Amino acid sequence: MMRCDILSLIVICMIRGGSTSVNGFKIKGGSVGIEIIKPAPSGWPEWVDRHQFTVKDGRDPLGLETITTDRIVPLLVPGILALSGRARYVSLHLFLLDEFARRRLEPTAANQSIYMRRCEYDFGAAVLLCERCGAEAAPVGAMTLRPIVRRAEHEVPRGFSVDSDLGGYGLYYRTPLRELGLVTQRGTPMDNRPIPIDLLASPRAEAIADAFREAIKDTAFYRQYFLGQEPIPRAVLQAFARVGCLCRLAESPHEVDLVRRAFFEEWSGVDPEAVRRRRQAFALMLRLAETTPEVLKDEAWHHRATLAALESTVGESSAWATTVQRWAALYGKEYYQDGLLVLWRGVNRLGREHCPPDGMPPSAFLDLVRRRLSSASLPLGAGTVALDGAQPTNQVLNEVARRTVGQSLEDLRSAYVGSKHALAGILMLLALCDRARVMDTVSDHSGWQEISRQGGNSQPGLHGFISRFRAHLSQGPVLADTLAWLVQNFVIRPHDQIATTKLPDFTFRFRLEGDRLKFYDSPGIEFGLADSRHSALSSLGRDMDLWNDVDGIPRVMAAGRDLVRATFI
Ligand SMILES: [Zn+2]
Repeated sequence: MMRCDILSLIVICMIRGGSTSVNGFKIKGGSVGIEIIKPAPSGWPEWVDRHQFTVKDGRDPLGLETITTDRIVPLLVPGILALSGRARYVSLHLFLLDEFARRRLEPTAANQSIYMRRCEYDFGAAVLLCERCGAEAAPVGAMTLRPIVRRAEHEVPRGFSVDSDLGGYGLYYRTPLRELGLVTQRGTPMDNRPIPIDLLASPRAEAIADAFREAIKDTAFYRQYFLGQEPIPRAVLQAFARVGCLCRLAESPHEVDLVRRAFFEEWSGVDPEAVRRRRQAFALMLRLAETTPEVLKDEAWHHRATLAALESTVGESSAWATTVQRWAALYGKEYYQDGLLVLWRGVNRLGREHCPPDGMPPSAFLDLVRRRLSSASLPLGAGTVALDGAQPTNQVLNEVARRTVGQSLEDLRSAYVGSKHALAGILMLLALCDRARVMDTVSDHSGWQEISRQGGNSQPGLHGFISRFRAHLSQGPVLADTLAWLVQNFVIRPHDQIATTKLPDFTFRFRLEGDRLKFYDSPGIEFGLADSRHSALSSLGRDMDLWNDVDGIPRVMAAGRDLVRATFI
């Protein structure tokens, strides 16, 4: 049975003509089925064989996470990845690269990869046996290692815990170490020839490797078992962990000082602006912690404290003001994303429940949005607010402004982000528009402008969104108009555009096919915020003894206070 609708015929013709594009996406010759043997399930695109597609999550269905991950975070926290969060791995990896060179092991990429993976397995086993880390121990490769270590009654057998090239070093630490000017990667030209393996890049790196060696030099693990084949007694790994574990960096004063300097000191060979921004990222958290210690452990508090510090920076151009503004603009962007997430959720639920399998014209769907999503009773300030679609949006904006005085945007976010009402998203976005007025007067060179102007291919950044929202509000819309406008411009259009670029992976939750909008039951509709490095900053900061728990309370330590002073004063 051949389906002979017009689009199928077009596709057949195009396949014969080789690779081409339809609706803006590429179809490689032969990748699209001509015959559809079974009728496609309702909701699937009719004109191609669904078996040619792979349904995938599409983790950024509105094109918002990419703004944080690809545009903003590299500007705010250069050289730190989400999973490069333990400072001792800096010393360990430099030490391992140094030992590889000192022992004159065969200098091939494959050999070095196996070497690093084997060593990090042994190290991970020791971390899992660390008496101080206990159940919190989470070395690279822990998923594989944990059951092995648990089963090992007396000795831990040798093995590998991470499968990829260069193991966890290759995945999480190699790029940061290169950006810190500590490692030269294989393939880098040296004397007109590419080097075959990764090498220490500077005397600083050698000094850190030496310091780690000094810390562990008397252990039986280093003296007898390093690079051996035989199983390692648990007691040997435990003794190694007492000096070499991730949690023990601060007990090696020279080593921790060198690691801090690698992160925070400007020196030839590293981008000075990257060093400054890294220092500012840590110092912001530490300075905010002087009055709000929760920021050291809890990202929501970091949002709250940063946004609270924002107003006092207007008109200032100090390093402190610039840093606060940059981070507040990131958190404003995350808040804007969460507001749209609430709208997105409402739209998808409505579509899945009410849109017929063959779809409906987009204008009819927007009418449905106006009718079914524009009234709700929601908590606001100390009470509740009854909203309906005929209310002027500016009236609602004023109500939001009046009733949320003294509340942080972070409080509104936690109150609304899980809501099933699309209008909760609008309340969030109206509050954002109101609060952002305080930044209207800052200069184009401010930290706020730099970060809030970072946008994506399918969505505007924070600045662009607020400008467009205000232009819409200036037309005096009612709430139903605002809802339809937001849904059309910031939910339907960008999702259709983004999912189209992901083909042949099928990530559509809904799709414009010709003049009809169709909804699909999978993939799921939830998505979260991108990692903005709070967790890595927190754990790196603790490892470097910039802060620590004192009697169960997080406190900024002397080195942290020094960093704040050097950065902002
Ligand atoms: Zn430990």
